[in-house]
Amino acid sequence: MPSSPAAHSAPIESSDLEALLADVADRSRHLAEEGEVEDQPEELPSAESTRFALALVDLDGNEHVTGDADLGFAIQSVVKVFALTAALQHVGEDLFDRVGREPSGDPFNSLVQLEQEQGIPRNPFINAGALTVCDVLLDAADDPYDAVAGLLGDLTGDEAAVNDTALDAEREGSSLNRAMGHLMQSFGNVHHPVDDVVELYVRLCSLTVTTRTLARAARFLANEGVNPLTGAPVLSEPLARRVNALMLTCGTYDAAGQFAYDLGFPCKSGVAGAVMGDVPGRFGVCAWSPPLDEKGNSRAGRAALHLLSERLDLSLL
Ligand code: GLU
Repeated sequence: MPSSPAAHSAPIESSDLEALLADVADRSRHLAEEGEVEDQPEELPSAESTRFALALVDLDGNEHVTGDADLGFAIQSVVKVFALTAALQHVGEDLFDRVGREPSGDPFNSLVQLEQEQGIPRNPFINAGALTVCDVLLDAADDPYDAVAGLLGDLTGDEAAVNDTALDAEREGSSLNRAMGHLMQSFGNVHHPVDDVVELYVRLCSLTVTTRTLARAARFLANEGVNPLTGAPVLSEPLARRVNALMLTCGTYDAAGQFAYDLGFPCKSGVAGAVMGDVPGRFGVCAWSPPLDEKGNSRAGRAALHLLSERLDLSLL
């Protein structure tokens, strides 16, 4: 049985947590002023640099939020966690015949390493790795889109829907992703037409989420692979642990070492400014602030989670 958060830490009063989140928000949100918002259609909330939210959800379902926690934005790279999970559900660890488990040390959309390493992406959280995961899902799942969107819906309790504005922008900006798809295809590591693989990937990146729903969704990884909302197993405990290991080592572009050092729990970030994480046995967590730092992670979101980790003693290390 999944253990309750109380088994791992002294209970924290709800009102204390609300006050703590508000204080962490006050101390970190101004850092957004120094970051750059990724080029996004101006009608999306993720183009608004002053947006900020923080959410902490425990395994019993108690939700603590501050800021714009219920405002929707495109999930972007954070979806790679759910795509990986869906692929592991379908093919298990055979997946790792086609994608590695090492940090890349290169930008998330780099082509260079892919050529040097014969079309095998370093990990499932760089774009090439996510494209391989999509290719695997096209083979293994009856409805590859639903394998991921349906999983996300089960974990958040909200039906996951694509934001069309985000999708149009993703399609238009997908030249590099197509190039990666063709390069991997030339090495035999993409089996489906590249257009189909990229279309699945960009649709998944365009799913709408909120800070609150991402904190909820991360909890299965904190709960030995079981969805706390429904009690249904999502992944076996060892596989959930391995997804956490990949998030810790590869989930935040080429700043994963710094995140492990500062926060000490597994996270995945995306260009819309979300950083989703989980603290095994305790919480799902998400911070959102669109301006990014030079490595592509939310500047204020990262600072907020660092502070939260120190205040609540969240580091596993
Ligand atoms: N849509 C983005 C891309 O593939 C996702 C990138 C990200 O969030 O890192 O280029």
